[in-house]
Amino acid sequence: MTLTMRSHLEDVGLKPGLLYIDGEWGGAVDGATWTHHHPATGEEVADLAVASASDVDSAVAAARRAFDESDWAGWRAQRRIALLRRCGALLREHADELRAVQALDNSVPVGFGAGVYAVSVEVAADVFDHHAGWVDKLGGETLAPYQGGDHLAMTFREPIGVVAAILPWNAPFLLLAQKVAPALATGCTVVLKPSEYCTFTVLRMVELLESAGVPKGVLNVVTGPGDPTGERLITHPDVDKISFTGSRAVGSRIVEASASTMTRVSLELGGKSPAVVFDDAADVGLAAATTIGAVTLGLSGQACVANTRALVHRSVYDEFLAAAEGMAGMVSYGDPFDPAVMSAPLINGRQLDRVLGYIDKGTAEGARLVTGGERLGGDYAGGNFVAPTIFADVDNSSTLAQEEIFGPVLAVVPFDDEDEAVAMANDTEYGLGASVFSADAQRTFRMARRIRAGTVCLNGFQIEPHLPFGGFKQSGLGREGGRSSIEAYTELKTVLMPLGDEMM
Ligand code: NAD
Repeated sequence: MTLTMRSHLEDVGLKPGLLYIDGEWGGAVDGATWTHHHPATGEEVADLAVASASDVDSAVAAARRAFDESDWAGWRAQRRIALLRRCGALLREHADELRAVQALDNSVPVGFGAGVYAVSVEVAADVFDHHAGWVDKLGGETLAPYQGGDHLAMTFREPIGVVAAILPWNAPFLLLAQKVAPALATGCTVVLKPSEYCTFTVLRMVELLESAGVPKGVLNVVTGPGDPTGERLITHPDVDKISFTGSRAVGSRIVEASASTMTRVSLELGGKSPAVVFDDAADVGLAAATTIGAVTLGLSGQACVANTRALVHRSVYDEFLAAAEGMAGMVSYGDPFDPAVMSAPLINGRQLDRVLGYIDKGTAEGARLVTGGERLGGDYAGGNFVAPTIFADVDNSSTLAQEEIFGPVLAVVPFDDEDEAVAMANDTEYGLGASVFSADAQRTFRMARRIRAGTVCLNGFQIEPHLPFGGFKQSGLGREGGRSSIEAYTELKTVLMPLGDEMM
């Protein structure tokens, strides 16, 4: 039966999307809208408002006023902690509903969203709880005077100001929380721009945060694509910081746009992360399942930190390939509301063409197609589904091994010794993540030290909400998560004071 979202649309009852500015919900001033099409069927889901430059100006002005003129930044700690905890509790309470809205947005299956912590509503709630714990610990230092004498030298952490938070479409729960929670914890104000491919989930989350008691003007939402909405936001002179998660191309544009104003920038960008599997891995089959799982389940490889390059020791290479192929054959597609479905389609037609183009290129460059490599037809023909794809005998310098494909495509490259594995792991413009599979603990730590990536997982693959996350090289600028978020959302101020008559 041909896949359709019609009954789910009726059940969930999405209303057209609105902007949220200064505590009010409303359309764009010029009435512009964008129609969201479901990635699994191509059906129309709902219209969202496209914020014009003037809507963005209103949102930034509201955030500016809330920061400069309201008592928000000076709230007492106990009140702010209670607010963050209410945000977390409301998200948890509405987890099922949020997963359903997300399934209509980006087609991430509800079963996957419920079962995998890193992309769950629960991880977002935990991020709010974690940041509640920072509120009464935003301290600086008291330092001994360098030149002696009788004076005090101190540092303070102060909120950075108005934050433009720009989200991609793939993991709205975690990524909204990683930007909004530290902003609320430190006393910043926010103008949030979701992706045009995942707006309704973010709007529903913001409704919940509003009902948790976030004051008017502190959190504003402008929806719409990069042009005009995003462009106005990243070039607005009253924005103090841009926190962006998305592609390297847009990240570069943000660095360029911020150069003349020195707007603070955090960038969480893409990757081409390696899974390095040694011949002494305790369970090569499990290493293969973990690797191909991250590339095909849930987001169908549309995850920044998925290990999309497998570097495998030649002596376990065939074993790895057989296990990965077996697992790829078990991936289930279709209706994201079916609890048995575990994988999503590609987000849009442009991404579908891009991924199929990379698959053609892989074959043309001489890699061996082990499985997949085609768009799914039949009942799935209306959606952007691509079969889990494995290429073997990939040259590490080829396009397939070097470029972020953002689809269910694993490139498997053989290696002969540890030095070669390190050289290949680091031979990329990216540096977001890596996994190392080996039963030799010293080797795993050695590899963790030698691989130039922001996060290295040993004998596994996981994400924790309270740890710094970010990339080396072209995978980004700065870190988000835990203490690093607090640092990224505050300015450090130094204060000096003589204790007697003596001037310094
Ligand atoms: P994208 O860069 O196309 O879009 C991201 C956001 O930027 C969207 O909201 C989009 O509307 C906006 N945007 C586009 N052009 C803009 C402009 N000129 N000015 C301001 N905003 C603009 O990325 P995507 O397709 O939504 O997401 C996929 C990318 O995100 C991948 O490269 C992936 O690796 C990366 N990603 C990184 C992380 C991380 O934490 N490192 C997490 C998730 C996704």
